[in-house]
Amino acid sequence: MFYFDAHCHLQNKRRFEKAKNLHLKYFIVNATHPDNWEEVFQASRVMPEILPCLGVHPWYIDRLPIHWVNILSQYLNKNPNIMVGEIGLDGTKPDLVHQADVFESCLKLAQIYKRPVHIHGHKAWMLISEILSCYPDMVFVLHNFNGNETMVRRFLKLKNAYFSLMNSRRFAIIPADRILVESDSPDKNRRLENVIEVGNQFGCGWKQLDRNFLDFFSHFPDGLRNTPKGLFRW
Ligand SMILES: [Zn+2]
Repeated sequence: MFYFDAHCHLQNKRRFEKAKNLHLKYFIVNATHPDNWEEVFQASRVMPEILPCLGVHPWYIDRLPIHWVNILSQYLNKNPNIMVGEIGLDGTKPDLVHQADVFESCLKLAQIYKRPVHIHGHKAWMLISEILSCYPDMVFVLHNFNGNETMVRRFLKLKNAYFSLMNSRRFAIIPADRILVESDSPDKNRRLENVIEVGNQFGCGWKQLDRNFLDFFSHFPDGLRNTPKGLFRW
């Protein structure tokens, strides 16, 4: 059995060392803007527990360099272990049209390079499910999922949906084999320990969570560097 964090922002070395003391084995670390892509990428090279994602968070769609799609494309092309995230939509922020535009550019790259995506969908789950229905093969994690049962059913119509949770409230409405847990730390001062506590409350235990985590990575054609070997389907 091992502990993991399916969504965080722990590219800072000092913070990361603290996290390791909690015996977490894998961290999916999401960059949020071209300004921190290189930082996350470099962190994953020196700290192999970090599984890197590069993307544009819907809060940070302004000030994008003009060639940002090209730059992201190059990262993905050169590094088969990089995933796409944090991307998505936020219904509480302005400019949903621009957000959707940036989101779709990221999804298209993920589709081209066959990478999973990590999605922020605060108050926008319906719109996200509509957009994702145009990408039926996409493997995706819905980060800090807080939708209702109807939304769960909509996402499950797509075959590769995973739901990442920060508390136990939705354990009952999501199939046990699609649940991941996360801390989202250090965002908004969120505690990393929370991920272990939430996992401990899951009825099927960490064993099932581990299986889900590995299952998620089995969708990679080439596997992921640093994930346990022999667990990939292809
Ligand atoms: Zn986040």
